[in-house]
Amino acid sequence: MTATPHLVDWDVATRTLVSMLRELIRIPSVNPPSPDRPDGELLAARYLAGVLEAAELEPDVIEPVPGRGSVHVRLRGDGTGGDPLLLLSHLDVVPAPPERWSHGPFDADLVDGYVYGRGAIDMKDLVAMELAVILQLASEARAAGLDPARDPIPGLRRDVLFTCTADEEAGGQAGAAWIVANRPEWLASAGAINESGAVTTTVAGVRFYPIGVAEKGYAAYRIHVKGTWGHGSMPREDNAVILAAAVISSLARPEPTRLTPVMTRFLETAADALPPGPARVARALAAGDDALTQATLDGLCDRRDAIALRALLRDTISPDVVHAGVKYNVIPGDATVEVDCRVLPGTTEPMIRARLIERMGPELAAACTIELIVWGEPVEAPADGDLFEIMSAVVREHDPDGVPLPSMVPFATDAKYTAELGIPTYGFSPLRFEADERMLDRFHGVDERVSVAALRWGLPVLYDVVRRFCA
Ligand SMILES: [Zn+2]
Repeated sequence: MTATPHLVDWDVATRTLVSMLRELIRIPSVNPPSPDRPDGELLAARYLAGVLEAAELEPDVIEPVPGRGSVHVRLRGDGTGGDPLLLLSHLDVVPAPPERWSHGPFDADLVDGYVYGRGAIDMKDLVAMELAVILQLASEARAAGLDPARDPIPGLRRDVLFTCTADEEAGGQAGAAWIVANRPEWLASAGAINESGAVTTTVAGVRFYPIGVAEKGYAAYRIHVKGTWGHGSMPREDNAVILAAAVISSLARPEPTRLTPVMTRFLETAADALPPGPARVARALAAGDDALTQATLDGLCDRRDAIALRALLRDTISPDVVHAGVKYNVIPGDATVEVDCRVLPGTTEPMIRARLIERMGPELAAACTIELIVWGEPVEAPADGDLFEIMSAVVREHDPDGVPLPSMVPFATDAKYTAELGIPTYGFSPLRFEADERMLDRFHGVDERVSVAALRWGLPVLYDVVRRFCA
């Protein structure tokens, strides 16, 4: 056990955390930035820098693109414990058209114990939690008569890095990608704590805490379909719209099941903790058989669970945009179909491109050229290293009935950039949710919100992980 130098009043610390979270939500750091608010991320970065300066720290703000700010600060350990721990986050949010919200998405209303607003879950909550941990550590240094900007924080053997980026929601070129190329020391660490993991997911009365160790990668393609222009009065088979429809229907069926080691462990750990009925479902999925997986997913009552699980057990292909045609009586000679592919660890870009061609078949593929729009590598961190073990142990200490387990998310985060530097990066934004709350429904959703109670539980969890990994 690590001796904590001070007894922390977590109720007081949570009040500070909630007020910082609300301040952050009120800064509409929307990505992509709009003409009337081109600098939301920079204002958010400056807000964080102001809070850190008030704690006698010396943060850096960068603005590689006008209005796009990221912020960083380093707390020192005594240097005997190895490479730093990185607390990673992003300060941009996706747009929030207010029409269907019951509270203004940038008002940060606090109602019935919930903070409402865009970013409450993705991810100004973890920004504020990581900031609160940094402030707590800095206050411990000051209480010991030390300068938190220069002296080692009492009890820390590793440095702790706090890096909060712009542009995560739109690929990271103005944020994490720039930092990798120009300020790699802001990220260089033995391990990173990042968004979307360790949030209570209740299944059959069992509280699971899926810790993110893997993320699917993505490949978006523009498929150019070549037909023959003609007069609408004389229909022809090489109408580009008809060919595009054939392309789309050829890609609509799910890819076959492929179990990754992380998902095998996820399902087997879940099966061991679940009552017999749901355990059978988890074991059936863990068998990795395509037909059995399909039948099992079809049998799930909750379609949202089935859709999420299906995405985690295969590469996916989703045709999402079609362009064709100029006038009702002109047969189009060109069409484009844009396809969103999400790939498991182990699938490369050439592999998923080859699958598209195979699915279309040689005749259809001959009428198409496939253009890669964007590619992001899938990432996977070890599910047995020190940091993962500490995160699991601390979760169990704070919720003795809870079951931490390694998991994958079907989307990408800035972890694809820390992975380039070889940094194992974990989705760990500890929140204790009520049984009927679903984190994935809140992501980018209407009435995004987080409860003060969930934050009150998560803050000491995060602090204990930082303290223990750096001790
Ligand atoms: Zn996010």
